[in-house]
Amino acid sequence: MTFNVDRIRQDFPILSKSNRGKPLAYLDNAASSQKPNCVIACLAKYYKEQNSNVHRGVYALAEEAEIEYQQARQTIADWLHVSTEEIIFVRGATEALNLTAHCFSQSKLKSGDAIILTQMEHHANIVPWQMVAKEKNLKIKVAPIMNDGTLDLECLSKLLREEDTKLLSLCHISNSLGTINPVEQIIKEAHDRNITVVVDGAQSIPHTRLDLKKMDCDFFAFSGHKVFGPMGIGVLYGKKELLQAMPPYQGGGDMIDQVSFEGTTFAPSPQRFEAGTPNVAGAIGLASAIDYLSNQNMLELAQHEDSLLQFAQTELQKIKGLKIHGNAAKKVAVISFSIEGVHPHDLATLLDSEGIAIRTGHHCCQPLMESLGVTSTARASFAFYNTMEEAERLVDAVQKSASILC
Ligand code: PLP
Repeated sequence: MTFNVDRIRQDFPILSKSNRGKPLAYLDNAASSQKPNCVIACLAKYYKEQNSNVHRGVYALAEEAEIEYQQARQTIADWLHVSTEEIIFVRGATEALNLTAHCFSQSKLKSGDAIILTQMEHHANIVPWQMVAKEKNLKIKVAPIMNDGTLDLECLSKLLREEDTKLLSLCHISNSLGTINPVEQIIKEAHDRNITVVVDGAQSIPHTRLDLKKMDCDFFAFSGHKVFGPMGIGVLYGKKELLQAMPPYQGGGDMIDQVSFEGTTFAPSPQRFEAGTPNVAGAIGLASAIDYLSNQNMLELAQHEDSLLQFAQTELQKIKGLKIHGNAAKKVAVISFSIEGVHPHDLATLLDSEGIAIRTGHHCCQPLMESLGVTSTARASFAFYNTMEEAERLVDAVQKSASILC
């Protein structure tokens, strides 16, 4: 079956909503994605028919919840081509990155070691490293970006060759620029020097079919809500041997082997990193979103998104005074832009009155904004359920707003 956006849109009930009396054009997908009926139904079914705590019950309901929870882990592991012991359920990409920074630095980093980040990172992939750097006296080095919003690979290589570099943490795709980083090539180069690589996959997982074994990253973090699943659930993938060498993140129920007042021994991964009652419904809902994607042709979805990107970029660029930040040849359908003399918030307010939802601000990338010479941008970000008509409405509304605000 060929790609049919109208058929796809029927799976997402919120898309037929109106916004300020106009049809909603939801173009804030990099912030959070909408949910298909199957995910919504799955959450309702869990709470109507399956809800109970996992791990401890012997009764049928608890067994059912446990089976569903572990099946969700299996679905996600299969989707990413890794094993279930390597999949840790967390609250989202932020928690996954905090866990990695905290636990990996405890087990493998020592005073004086250096961590490389890039100029285009989200605060979630900056602040946790700063916190552990302060605690353990680590250095942080930053790989710069080029004018087109791509990573300066030459500078990055230079940093990777420095003796004290022990870890690189970078985004697969920038949430502000849309740039797709060549992570496989970078990981190979880093591994040749025994450098551990953490990939922030928050923005890549909704757009591409990934094989983490092939990518060969050491850790990979993402959030369920950006991949058409529920909020409050996310995943940290880590290579088994690295996870087994790491101390727990939080202490409590379910993550232990034996507890006494003399001391505690811990369960193996993934339980070691999942202290307390997990977000069972969230995990099952995320697996349902992954099942939904498995039934789509991801290549067709990506081609559709790219046609929206190409159209919107070309047309927006024709607007006087408009500058697009990030023009990498390889990018996803995320367009950050500024218009000379126009405050992005004013622009977004006018777009909202036309039914169009975009985001403005620093997009949790203040260091990136500084390097772009702005404090905020307007950002339109597309998903496969967006239409060419919505892209046209965006261009028309930006044009109209610019003529009012300039
Ligand atoms: N990393 C990137 C690249 C992101 O875009 C985001 C969210 O926008 C995050 C990390 C943090 O995700 P969350 O807030 O879902 O934990």
